[in-house]
Amino acid sequence: EKIDGAVLDVADLSKSFGCNQALRSASLHAEPGRVTALIGPNGSGKTTMLNMICGFYTADAGTIAVGGTQTQRFASHRVAREGVARTFQTPNIPENVTVLEAVAAGRYMTDRASMLATFLRLPSYRRTARNDVAEAERVLEAVGMAHLRDEIATSLPLGMRRMLEVARAVVARPRVVLLDEIASGMDENELVRLSTLIRALRDAGATVLLVEHNFRLVLSLADSIVVLAQGQVIAEGPPEEIEKHPRVLSEYLGI
Ligand code: ADP
Repeated sequence: EKIDGAVLDVADLSKSFGCNQALRSASLHAEPGRVTALIGPNGSGKTTMLNMICGFYTADAGTIAVGGTQTQRFASHRVAREGVARTFQTPNIPENVTVLEAVAAGRYMTDRASMLATFLRLPSYRRTARNDVAEAERVLEAVGMAHLRDEIATSLPLGMRRMLEVARAVVARPRVVLLDEIASGMDENELVRLSTLIRALRDAGATVLLVEHNFRLVLSLADSIVVLAQGQVIAEGPPEEIEKHPRVLSEYLGI
């Protein structure tokens, strides 16, 4: 099944918090069917960039376009309606729902009202539930978590909760998916499954933007890498160029 991926174009984005300039005219371009990684040291502005793309913060200057639609002034639910889904560093899973319910509800990540209906079990939820459950079962199978479907989602260890976040984003069939530090806390098996899932999303046609500390994972997954330092893009290119870039080696990897 194909996903109708959308080009993500961020141009000259700036954002300050008081006198702290988190982003200084930063630009990035992410394409459907490709994994674009955003890397950089702590405090370089990666999370701020994601928060602005998904409409949590508004830009001081610059533009954001999703499939040609300018979204920089959209509230987060309108950005979601353009097909942008994201995961959170702290998994954002509601209390007292099962793994299956949590993943099925991800279907509504692009529409907050329906997501609420899901958890309140309103009639709109019951109407659509059967399809959603089938889709959620398929995704859980793919991430090797089918046997955990009836567990309480928040009771899982961190690595699995992160995987669940990704599964929730996948069932939404997002045009653009923003993955924020999903690999931390995962063991080797989980990392392999995670990589498989991200490649499947990409190959289905989604635009994947990955913020990730694990440089080895970035090198193995990314088609293109953007490096931020102090709110500015200092390098961008394919992994084989970035891994040799002198400023990346010195500033980012400390070599
Ligand atoms: P990264 O994700 O690369 O670690 P962040 O985007 O979290 O970097 O942070 C970039 C800078 O912006 C940091 O100096 C951080 O302290 C600041 N910052 C981020 N979010 C806020 C906020 N909500 N309020 C104030 N300062 C913030």
